[in-house]
Amino acid sequence: MASRAAGTYPPVPEPLAHPVVDTHTHLDICTGVRLPLGAGEPEPEVTPNEDEEFPSLDFFHDTAAEAGVRRIIQIGCDLPAARWTTELVASEYAAGRTWMLGGAALHPNEAPRLAERGLLDDALNEIEALVTSHDRMRVVGETGLDYFRTGEEGVAEQQRSFRAHIEIAKRTGRALQIHDREAHADVLRILKEEGAPEVTIFHCFSGDEEMARECATEGYYMSFAGNLTFKNADELRRAAAAAPLELLLTETDAPFLTPHRGKPGGPYLTAITARKLAEVRGMSEADLCSAVWANAQRAIGSWD
Ligand SMILES: [Zn+2]
Ligand SMILES: [Zn+2]
Repeated sequence: MASRAAGTYPPVPEPLAHPVVDTHTHLDICTGVRLPLGAGEPEPEVTPNEDEEFPSLDFFHDTAAEAGVRRIIQIGCDLPAARWTTELVASEYAAGRTWMLGGAALHPNEAPRLAERGLLDDALNEIEALVTSHDRMRVVGETGLDYFRTGEEGVAEQQRSFRAHIEIAKRTGRALQIHDREAHADVLRILKEEGAPEVTIFHCFSGDEEMARECATEGYYMSFAGNLTFKNADELRRAAAAAPLELLLTETDAPFLTPHRGKPGGPYLTAITARKLAEVRGMSEADLCSAVWANAQRAIGSWD
C-alpha cells in the first residue's frame, strides 16, 4: 500500500452543498492500530498508534467535517478490529462528536482462516455479543462472499459464515452490510434462501445495471465508493444511474478504493463520490446529497 504519512493524502475537496454519510470506513486501518486484512499473522494484534506515519482519529474527523462528510460508520471486520470499534463508538470521544456509529463482522476472507483453526463458531458468538453490547453498534458487516481473494477451498466456510451473519443481523435487528466480490449470484441466492434482514446494504456496490434492478426489487440499499469515479467504471456508473434514488448510499471503504489511485484515503473523500453520483444521476449536488443523507438515517437510525 502507498505511504500513509499525513502529507501524502489527497487535498480536502470543497465542502459539499449538503452533508453526506460515509457508511463504510475502516479507521482502525487508517490510523494504523492494526494491520490491513491479510497482512502478517492470521490474527493481527491490536497495537497502539506509535508510528507517526499514520494520521490520528482527529485528522480523519476534521478533514471529513471540512468536506461536509458529517457522519460515518466505522467497520471492524475481524475480531481485534471489531473489539476496537465497539470500544471506540462507546467512548466519550465518539459520543461527544455524534459523528460515528459502528459495525462488526468477520470479513469473508477472514472466515475460512478462522474455520481452519476451529475458531469460527466462537468468533461468530463474539461478534453477536459485540454488536449487541452498545446501541451505537448498528451494523452487522462486512460479511458476504469474496471469490476474488478466497479460492475454492474457502467457499463452504465463507458461505456458512455469511448465513450465520444474516441470522445475527435478523436476531439483533441490525442492518446487514454485504461485501460481494465476484460472487453476485451466490450472494443474492443466499440472501433469498435465508431471508434478508429488513435493512440490507451492498457495501461498495460492484454489480451492473441488471443487478441494480434486482437489488431494487428486493429493496436492498446500494452503497457506492470511490471506484465510481474510475475511468473504466462505465458499467458501474450505469448501475448507479439505474438504482432508485431512495436506495442509494455513499461510502469510502477507506483507506481502500480511493478516487485518487495509489494514494491513501479517508472518509472525507466521500465528497468526491457524492459529486460523481450527482453527475451520473443528472441531479444537483444539494439534491443528491440530501437524498443519500436521508437514506442513511432511514436505514441506520439517528447518529445523535
Ligand atoms: Zn468490502
Ligand atoms: Zn470494507
